[in-house]
Amino acid sequence: MIIVLLGPPGAGKGTQADKLAARLGIPKIATGDVLRAALRDGTPRGREAKAFMDRGDLVPDSVILAILQDVMSSPATEKGAILDGAVRTVPQAQGVGIMLAEVGRRIDKVLLFDIGDRKLISRLSGRTVCGQCQTPYKDREPGSKCEKCGGSLMRRQDDEPDAVRNRLDVYRAQTEPVVEYYKGIEMEPVKIDADADVDEVTARALKALEPE
Ligand code: AMP
Repeated sequence: MIIVLLGPPGAGKGTQADKLAARLGIPKIATGDVLRAALRDGTPRGREAKAFMDRGDLVPDSVILAILQDVMSSPATEKGAILDGAVRTVPQAQGVGIMLAEVGRRIDKVLLFDIGDRKLISRLSGRTVCGQCQTPYKDREPGSKCEKCGGSLMRRQDDEPDAVRNRLDVYRAQTEPVVEYYKGIEMEPVKIDADADVDEVTARALKALEPE
């Protein structure tokens, strides 16, 4: 099963992608995590992406499509994948569609996590993440220890207020049209109200994934 998760930054896509991946037994593919790992490792891809990421801008489609080509052709995604924040522009949506069609696969479901701007801003401004495994925490100070891996918690540079505002503008301008694109190819995203506690949102997402 190939599932695309759409929604603004701070909607909880990453947390839900982890939960859905565990429940469905398929991996989560988060391009943001892949890029942050490339940045930490100092690879050319990471160096190319850094300035875009720090500002909260999108990295070029060619970089994202190359990452998706790598992961979707790996045995790890044979049974499917949860694509978390991996499709953020119409050219990316088209590119992923073509890439999958070439190997006789297709997207099964698109979920759209929906939540108001005020909630997003307050979530992102209170968030710290583990520098190693990327687990997000609310209301924990930078420097605290990650419960999962013992790594040190930090604030993401793109969770600073200016970058957050830019990320929301970028979402409206470049990612919202992806919703219309999927509607146009009869793959209408299923809207999930994401303003609820984590388990409730997971239950809503799982319900949306049940066969019709
Ligand atoms: P995220 O962790 O999903 O919030 O992603 C962090 C940053 O990585 C984004 O603000 C973008 O700069 C970059 N990024 C991640 N995924 C994509 C994508 N599909 N297209 C373009 N840029 C992306």
